[in-house]
Amino acid sequence: MKRSALVCGAGGFIGSHLVKRLKRENYWVRGVDLKLPPFAETQADDFIVADLRDSAACGRAIDRQYDEVYQLAADMGGAGYVFTGENDAEIMRNSAAINLNVLSSCQERGIGRVFYSSSACVYPVHNQLDPNNPFCSEQSAYPAAPDSEYGWEKLFSERLFLAFNKNHSMNNRVARYHNIFGPEGAWQGGREKAPAAVCRKVAMASDGGEIEIWGDGNQTRSFLFIDECIEGTLRLMQSGFAGPLNIGSDEMVTINQLVDMVCEIAGKTLHKNHISGPIGVRGRNSDNALIEQKLSWRPSLKLYAGLEQTYDWIERQVQRETNQSAA
Ligand code: NAD
Repeated sequence: MKRSALVCGAGGFIGSHLVKRLKRENYWVRGVDLKLPPFAETQADDFIVADLRDSAACGRAIDRQYDEVYQLAADMGGAGYVFTGENDAEIMRNSAAINLNVLSSCQERGIGRVFYSSSACVYPVHNQLDPNNPFCSEQSAYPAAPDSEYGWEKLFSERLFLAFNKNHSMNNRVARYHNIFGPEGAWQGGREKAPAAVCRKVAMASDGGEIEIWGDGNQTRSFLFIDECIEGTLRLMQSGFAGPLNIGSDEMVTINQLVDMVCEIAGKTLHKNHISGPIGVRGRNSDNALIEQKLSWRPSLKLYAGLEQTYDWIERQVQRETNQSAA
């Protein structure tokens, strides 16, 4: 018989890619989200538009015994949404409500295995002050000191999913994603993340012009291409390890280096204009020792290769919008 999966957050970036992959693996898939995916038609067999903060609506989406549930729905965004402090109360209330509802409904239905997408934002600020030596191994999350309320909510929810393993005989899996990027993600409007924002700015700039970069650009990060994120997610789900487990790239670059790569891909020379803006921690990189040990696998695609695909997609979005506004 076909395996069945529910993807919560299937209208979002990672969720919509996960649906596609599960369909390729021959699952029957239901998606649920506040919205349909904005950039391509969903490939889910069934899609429910619902608000998972509403426990009755959540119960209607979780009305059967799925083999697997993937809980990716969250009030989410890039630095411009998460690090300004302006959205903290909503981020915490919305995401905690979704997680509580999804877990309770799954428990009521006797669903054994739920995947939860936590974040590298759980790691303490004091381990990420040196841009050249950030320390983000899984156990370093405690004593806890995330730099955002988004990170605190993620820590709470990680513990919630693992507490249900302990007290309700569930077999949930918890991943900590590190900066996922790729085609069909938010690329404008305030919720986009650094790779998409840089691709958009470069695509919109004329050769020889300039682009604005938040901060001095010496802050470091690693970025994981979407296909590898999905691969790691499925591998963790099928493994015997509950987590938390980093799913990220360990190819660390400065934001300035990221910009240089995108400029090279675009074939443009641009001046970087550094302006003040929310930048988050000074340095962050995925520590991949545990994923290697637990899954005998680690992400390996080069950042440049992922950026080529992402830039190509964003450049087409920019061109389409430009053509539309000219028409
Ligand atoms: P996304 O914003 O594209 O997707 C989240 C989806 O959740 C959206 O489509 C949104 O409409 C939906 N949602 C929000 N509130 C909802 C509600 N009340 N009811 C139903 N649906 C609701 O984000 P994403 O990048 O795909 O991230 C997916 C998950 O991975 C999130 O939990 C996020 O915190 C986590 N994560 C992502 C990254 C990353 O770099 N993208 C990094 C770390 C963790």
